[in-house]
Amino acid sequence: MKVDLHLHTTASDGVLTPGQLVTEAARRGLSVIAITDHDSTEGIAEALETARDYPDLVVIPGVELSTDVPKGEVHVLGYYVDYQDKDFQARLDIMRSSRLDRARHMVEKLRRLGMPIRWDRVLELANGGSVGRPHVAEALLEAGHVGSFQEAFVKYIGRDGPAYAEREKLTPVEAVSLLAKVGSLPVLAHPGEMEGLYSYLSELTGAGLVGIEVYYSGYCPEICERLLKAARRYGLLVTGGSDYHGHGGKGEAELGSLSIPWESAQKLMEMAEQRRKAHVR
Ligand SMILES: [Zn+2]
Ligand SMILES: [Zn+2]
Repeated sequence: MKVDLHLHTTASDGVLTPGQLVTEAARRGLSVIAITDHDSTEGIAEALETARDYPDLVVIPGVELSTDVPKGEVHVLGYYVDYQDKDFQARLDIMRSSRLDRARHMVEKLRRLGMPIRWDRVLELANGGSVGRPHVAEALLEAGHVGSFQEAFVKYIGRDGPAYAEREKLTPVEAVSLLAKVGSLPVLAHPGEMEGLYSYLSELTGAGLVGIEVYYSGYCPEICERLLKAARRYGLLVTGGSDYHGHGGKGEAELGSLSIPWESAQKLMEMAEQRRKAHVR
């Protein structure tokens, strides 16, 4: 019973369409997957539609919200997200358009710094998904202004870079509350390197966090052990996923390649079922 609860599609910065991803997951014999695009649920309807052809595969509708903290970003996964909720969609729209404004702002700053890149090329690189700094970096690289993807971040669009621009900020607590409000199950994504994990956890569990992503690409047994301990301490569900994007890069885990305990998907599904029943009653 193979499980992968963290996957991206063309609805954000993944390479496979939702339909292709589901088909590929079925081909690889996975039992449960979750679609978790950045700030978007646009891929869910197609994924669920395709999943009808594969009765042995469960597809969980999800999302991955980006939030800002002083030292970077914290991501929050939301499982069983009610992707048809109008208020939730309106909120996602605001987040995405602020990403767009921010990217445009960065392109403008780069132009003033003497490093013009084409806005339509940035959009092209985003391929219909939500536009982010990686697409700006890619355009800089293509235009020959930097020698590597890394350099684009370090010299220009990193947090303290001269072409960096802010965007509408959501805090981790706001993201968890927003997800909990629409009845989804919020889970802290890839917290392996997070500073101050315990203080985040005590704050976030208060806001409705139900789980923590323990099994993740590149996490060594020591990191997993530390996160398992944190999960026990706060009574959180343990989840895991590859964060597969389909780029095929060296550091990227393949779809379904991590050994994630079947139990993690099972508990998540049980909790969703309990919530659903409580809601119906
Ligand atoms: Zn993430
Ligand atoms: Zn992700």
